[in-house]
Amino acid sequence: MRNGYWQKLLRVDLTNKKTSVEPIAEEDLKRFIGGAGLAAEILRREVPAKIDPYDPKNLVIFGTGPFQGPPIAGGAKFSIVGISPVTGTFGDTAAGADWGPSLKDAGYDMLVIEGASKTPVYLHIVDDRVEIREASNLTGMDTYETIDAIHKETVDKELSIAAIGPAGEKQVAIACIVVDKHSFAGRCGLGAVMGSKGLKAVAVRGTQTAEMSDPDKAKELIGQYQKQILATVKENEFRVHGTTALCESAEALGDMPIKYWEQDVWPEGAKKLGAPNYTKVLNAKPYSCKFCPVGCHRKIKITEPAEYAQEGIGPEYETLGMMGTNLLIDDPKAVAQGNDMANGLGLDTISAGAMVGFAMECFEKEWITAQDTDGLELKWGDPKVLFALLEQIGKKEGFGAIFWEGTLPAAEKINPEAIEIVAHCKGLDFPSHDARSCISLAPTYATGTRGACHFRGGCEDVEMGGFFIPEIGIKEGMVKFFERENQSLLAAKCQDYFALLNSLVLCAFMVDGGDMPFSGVKDLFNAITGWDYSIEDLMDAGERIFTVQRLINIRDGYNAATDVLPKKMLQPAKEGFRAGKVPPFKELMEDYYNLRGWDENGEPSQGTMDRLGLTK
Ligand code: SF4
Repeated sequence: MRNGYWQKLLRVDLTNKKTSVEPIAEEDLKRFIGGAGLAAEILRREVPAKIDPYDPKNLVIFGTGPFQGPPIAGGAKFSIVGISPVTGTFGDTAAGADWGPSLKDAGYDMLVIEGASKTPVYLHIVDDRVEIREASNLTGMDTYETIDAIHKETVDKELSIAAIGPAGEKQVAIACIVVDKHSFAGRCGLGAVMGSKGLKAVAVRGTQTAEMSDPDKAKELIGQYQKQILATVKENEFRVHGTTALCESAEALGDMPIKYWEQDVWPEGAKKLGAPNYTKVLNAKPYSCKFCPVGCHRKIKITEPAEYAQEGIGPEYETLGMMGTNLLIDDPKAVAQGNDMANGLGLDTISAGAMVGFAMECFEKEWITAQDTDGLELKWGDPKVLFALLEQIGKKEGFGAIFWEGTLPAAEKINPEAIEIVAHCKGLDFPSHDARSCISLAPTYATGTRGACHFRGGCEDVEMGGFFIPEIGIKEGMVKFFERENQSLLAAKCQDYFALLNSLVLCAFMVDGGDMPFSGVKDLFNAITGWDYSIEDLMDAGERIFTVQRLINIRDGYNAATDVLPKKMLQPAKEGFRAGKVPPFKELMEDYYNLRGWDENGEPSQGTMDRLGLTK
C-alpha cells in the first residue's frame, strides 16, 4: 500500500508473553486517521465499560498516524491511550522526541499492550524482532537512569525509549511516561497503567520507510513548511523563548493559576518566572523533537546555587504556572528543580503542582496540620515544600502517599469540605489556564474527554489573539472576552481540530505559533495518503474521533450531570482583568449541547451518530 501507513498493529500480551501482528483495515484509518483517534476506537471495541484502570484487561495503546513516516516538522509525535486511573475513563497523552517515527520505521502504526506481567519487563522492538525482556534490574530506577541503563545494556544509542519511573511502578495515579529524557507524556496517569502491567519501558528502533502516495509532492510541501515555520518562529521569538514567553501576558489576562486559583494577580511573580528573565537566568536554549524547526523545549544550565545545579530540560509554561505562581514560588531555578525531580520520578508536572497547591491551601485552612506532615509546614512560596511533597508523592511514602489515587480521592480523605476546593474536571487537575478569563475554556474543560485540558482544545489562544484557522471559521474577532456569542462554537471546533491533530499525529505548534496553514496540513495529508480529503472531511474525522471519546466517557458513567466546572471557576475575581466576571456557564453549555447535537443527558443524539457514521 502507498498511503503512508503499514496497516499493521503490533499486539503484545504481557500475561502470556506473546506478540502478534494484526492488519488494520484501511476503512478504520480513513475514519479514525491514527494516533489518539484510532486508539480511542480500539479502546472502545476492546475494553469493557467501567473497568478498573489497573485490570490487566485495560490496554496501553501507542499510536502513530500518517505524519510519522516522512520527516515532517511537528510530526515526531505519538499518542498514548488507555483507561486513565485519574478519570476512570478515556485517557490520552502525547509526547515527541524520536519515539513515534521510530515505531513507524519499525513497520507498525500502532502498538497495543494488553495483560500484565508478574515480573518487571521492558519491550525491545527492532523491526520485526520483538522481545519482552526481563527488567528486574531496572526496578526503582528513575526515568533518566532507566533510559541510560537500556541504552547501555543494548549498546544501541539509536533506540528511542519511553519509560516510567518510581511513580509509575507504584501506580501513583498521576504517573507520566518519559521519552528519550526530554519529552513527557504527562497527563492522565498512563505511566501508572504501564506500571500495573509490570512494563518499565518500551524501546524501539526501525529501518524501514512507509511508502507514500505522492512522495515528490510530499517532499516539496515538507521542505516548504520547514522553511516557513522556521522563519516565523524566529521572527515571533517562539524559538528563542518557547512557551515561557507566555507568563507575563497570561498573568495580565487572569489566565495563570495563582495560589491554587485563589489569588487574582501577581505580575511580579509572573515576570520573574517567564521570559526574558527565564532565558537569561537559566541559560535557556531551544531544544527540539526530531525534524522540528521550532524547538519549543528548553535546554537549561544552572551552575549556582549548588543545590539547584543542573543541565537538562527546563520547565515550560504549564509547569511554571503549576509549580510557580500556583504555589507563590517566583524563582525559576526552584521551579526548574521541581520540574527535574518530577520528570525523574515520572510524575505529571501539572497534576503534581496542583496537588502541592491543594495541600498548601488545606494547610492554610487547617484541614491539615504539621502533625499530619511529619512537621513539614506547608507554607506558600516555600520551594522546600514542593521538593519534599514531590518526593513523597512520587515514591508513595509519608504524607504525600495520600495523593496516590489523585487530588480528589486525597480531598475525600482529608476533609469533606476539601472536595469543594479541588480544581478539576472528571478528576483531572486544571492546567495553567483559567476558564474565567477565556470563557470558551468553560465548555472545553467541562466536556473534555480526558478531563480539564486546554491542549485538547486550544481555544484560549484564539481568544488571546494568538492563532486563527480561517479555513474552518476560526477567525480574528469571532469571540470577545466574557461575551457568550460564538464561545461554544469556538470550543467545539477547537476540540474537533485538536482531536484530528492528535490522530495525524501533528504538533499543534506548527499551526499555532509556526504559521503552517490548515490547508497545508490537508495538502500534506493527501500527498501522503492519496485520499483527496477536503478540509470538511478532515474536520468530520476530528468530530467523529471526539465523539468516540465522548461515547467512552458516557459508558463509563459520565453524563450531563458531570459536565460541570469546579467551584473555584465560578467565583469572581476581586481585581485584575477578570474582576467581577464569571463564565455564563449554563448558557454556554446550552449552546454547546445544541451545536453538538447531544441530548439532555449529554449523549450524542441518533442524528449526530448517523451523521458521523457511528453506532453505540
Ligand atoms: S514545537 Fe515543540 S513539542 Fe512541537 S514538535 Fe517542535 S519541539 Fe516538539
